[in-house]
Amino acid sequence: MSSTVQRIAENVARVRDAIERAAQRSQRRADEIRLIAVSKYVDTDVIEALLEAGCHDLGESRPQHLWKKAEQLVERPVHWHMIGHLQRNKARRTLPWIDMLHAGDSVRLLDTVNQLSIESGRTCQVLVEVNVSGDESKHGFQPEQVPEVLDQAVRWPGLRICGLMAMARWGSEPDEARYDFIALRQLRDRLIGTVPDQVRLDHLSMGMSSDFEVAIEEGATMVRVGSSLFEGIAG
Ligand SMILES: *Cc1c(COP(=O)(O)O)cnc(C)c1O
Repeated sequence: MSSTVQRIAENVARVRDAIERAAQRSQRRADEIRLIAVSKYVDTDVIEALLEAGCHDLGESRPQHLWKKAEQLVERPVHWHMIGHLQRNKARRTLPWIDMLHAGDSVRLLDTVNQLSIESGRTCQVLVEVNVSGDESKHGFQPEQVPEVLDQAVRWPGLRICGLMAMARWGSEPDEARYDFIALRQLRDRLIGTVPDQVRLDHLSMGMSSDFEVAIEEGATMVRVGSSLFEGIAG
């Protein structure tokens, strides 16, 4: 076994173990939590090692990188997640590749994705990104805007809105990040029951390498983990 394959297998096992323990602490089942392996730091040879370690949900934050890797791995069993900001002029080329858009961060983007999905006879799974931390530099809707965004879902038959996504405030320690994760969960809980029928709020995509355990304790159903998976890998 090559050392990369072995190292990735160990890292994946360590992260999965941490997911399991965080789930137990919060009386949740680990199989309710999907690990999105953020492959943006690595090339396809390392991605092959991730696939071998059983990670088939992969996240990329830049559309051009996603296109290139998805084309190279077209024969492989990958579910691609677009986790970063998607410019509208890159949507047409991105949508055919992805299982889910995590960064639904503007009404104009949602309009575009809806239109393109209808044209191609598909629906796109989308999460609505919320700027829970209020960082000026972050994408996403302000929490108070989310109800009126979701109310527009009746206009978007091409979208399947299935949850919310957030990033913790920049540079925060896990215990500070916890406040942002609680804010996202509470927003979801307040919205449930008030949103149009076609909106599901099953998913909370939150938590990265430094804080995914806290995110799970606060209700994450998808964690987006990158650097922890690549420790010890020359990059
Ligand atoms: C890079 C990235 C991640 C993963 O971050 P790590 O700290 O490397 O785990 C998660 N989410 C988004 C949106 C990212 O851009």
